[in-house]
Amino acid sequence: MRRRVLVVAGLDPSGGAGFTADLAVLSHAGLDGVVAPTAITVQTAERVRRVVRIDPEVVSETIGALGASHEIAAVKIGMLATAQVVEAVARSLPALRGAPVVLDPVLASGTGVELLEPAGVEALRARLLPLANVVTPNVAEAERLSGIAVREPRDLETAARALRVLGARAVLVKGGHLSGAPDDLWVDDGGATVLAGERVGTGRIHGAGCALATWIAAGLAQGLEPLEAARRAKREVAAAIARSQTVEGEVRELRW
Ligand code: PLP
Repeated sequence: MRRRVLVVAGLDPSGGAGFTADLAVLSHAGLDGVVAPTAITVQTAERVRRVVRIDPEVVSETIGALGASHEIAAVKIGMLATAQVVEAVARSLPALRGAPVVLDPVLASGTGVELLEPAGVEALRARLLPLANVVTPNVAEAERLSGIAVREPRDLETAARALRVLGARAVLVKGGHLSGAPDDLWVDDGGATVLAGERVGTGRIHGAGCALATWIAAGLAQGLEPLEAARRAKREVAAAIARSQTVEGEVRELRW
């Protein structure tokens, strides 16, 4: 059986985010991916216009079938759209024989369109955080999941620790949406570590969060320690941001 990374995520037809972007990351990392699609979106790089949900039974059957026919070396979870899909994924993960899970808790698009319904947020907190080896919220997601307001860098640690109490083994809170340097904060049972970043260019980057989580899953599949996987992921995404190209208005897409 070939070792693959399982991507559980939505389709962005523009290719900048979602599972097609995740497969591009895996290929760049030298890995093969398989996909359990959770939603189809209608969107351009600038705006999500519509979300079409996938039947949760289809999601769990797909994960079951892929787990039976491939050795799943790691799992990346992205957009889930509904509470029922969150439940279906939580029920299906134990069949993957302990593959490490990276959870990107996608709640809304960069332009504020809902990508997980409100009931799904509670389900994600209760059912998926406890199964996550690494969870990668941005500031807004960390606030919503932890209930802690994040206004300045030191709040990142309070929110990250709260998400660990909810069951995630390691938390990477992405500080890029705070003003100043885009430093991220990693917290695991060894303590807190700042992953320092430098701001490159201006404008909104489409799909950076998807790519970062997928790079971490790739690192875990390749046997890196979680913190090392996160450091490499941040380096790779920073390099892709430096090479990014404008696709629409002020929106830029990563280049590998
Ligand atoms: N569409 C899909 C399918 C996604 O998974 C995501 C983010 O995870 C987005 C859109 C939003 O991407 P961004 O906020 O980077 O524009």
